[in-house]
Amino acid sequence: MKALLIGECRGGQVLDATWELFGYAAQACAEPLLFMVGTKEAVAGAGVRVLLADASKQGEYNPEAHKLLILEAIRRESPDQIVFMHSSYGWDLAPRVAAALGVAQSSEVIGIAEGGFELCACNAKMRRTVVPTTAKIVVTLQGGAFQGQKPAGSTEIQDLDVEASSRLEFLGYEEPEKKDVNLATAEIIVSAGRGVGKKDNVQIIEALAKALGGELGASRPVVDSGWVAQSHQVGTTGQTVAPKLYVACGISGAIQHLAGMRKSEFILAINKDKDAPIGEVADVLVVADLLQFVPALTAKLGR
Ligand SMILES: Cc1cc2nc3c(=O)[nH]c(=O)nc-3n(C[C@H](O)[C@H](O)[C@H](O)COP(=O)(O)OP(=O)(O)OC[C@H]3O[C@@H](n4cnc5c(N)ncnc54)[C@H](O)[C@@H]3O)c2cc1C
Repeated sequence: MKALLIGECRGGQVLDATWELFGYAAQACAEPLLFMVGTKEAVAGAGVRVLLADASKQGEYNPEAHKLLILEAIRRESPDQIVFMHSSYGWDLAPRVAAALGVAQSSEVIGIAEGGFELCACNAKMRRTVVPTTAKIVVTLQGGAFQGQKPAGSTEIQDLDVEASSRLEFLGYEEPEKKDVNLATAEIIVSAGRGVGKKDNVQIIEALAKALGGELGASRPVVDSGWVAQSHQVGTTGQTVAPKLYVACGISGAIQHLAGMRKSEFILAINKDKDAPIGEVADVLVVADLLQFVPALTAKLGR
């Protein structure tokens, strides 16, 4: 089985998430082939065969032109799967490619199942399995669902070009507003999940963060409830963090949260449910009521 992996290049650099496509290909036992609109310098050490379109001609982001380039790559290589990250680039391009080919698309894949894919359902509270009905398929992967895996083979770059007329013009990227807290560089993060119960209890988590000299993080429901500002959210729609210590308090471990924090060096989870999925990534899982355990731990640290 052959998988055409659609990598992403931003400001002349290959985005890290591109390597997650290879983690997927390894699990799917697929022969990987990388497509990218970028530069020779960016993919010089890719360690795999690359179909490279020139970003200075096609633009780093131009879904109309990139669709035509991907269709040309598919014509040449006849892959069984065309695999994107479920990023803004993937959201934009994947359905265009699937519609042009008239094939099925499975979006936000979090796992591989017998004959198909695992996807989230009911706001990620449940999982469902889908089986594509066409032989060739387009897939987008949930960020963090597959481990990044840089190929270690030799790099072979093959140029790809089409005359792509487009009504779109790429103007550039706009930096997001500066956040009041930069979790991306924090060495210690203590995060509050829905398990804190109510807004007033967030101060228990904040006190532990302060005692450890760290920053406050939060899961999305805590942010959506207005208990903590969005700038503290960790996960696919929040920040991606990699501190030395991540303390998850009352966080179940949904895939969208894990995607933002699983690269932490040491993960301590506090949860009253011994079977909470956070236990699968935690180095230590303390099974306790956080309302009792966290203040006791903070008090110990204060001594
Ligand atoms: C498109 C999309 C994007 C998303 N992006 C993000 C994102 O960026 N970040 C994110 O976090 N989520 C995100 N989510 C939501 C995600 O799917 C989960 O719903 C969310 O992460 C769950 O948050 P939680 O773990 O705090 O809450 P819950 O899943 O409700 O878990 C609460 C946990 O607290 C435990 N608990 C309860 N009371 C106590 C107590 N007293 N002491 C100890 N433990 C207790 C429970 O056992 C449970 O494990 C996204 C969802 C979607 C669909």
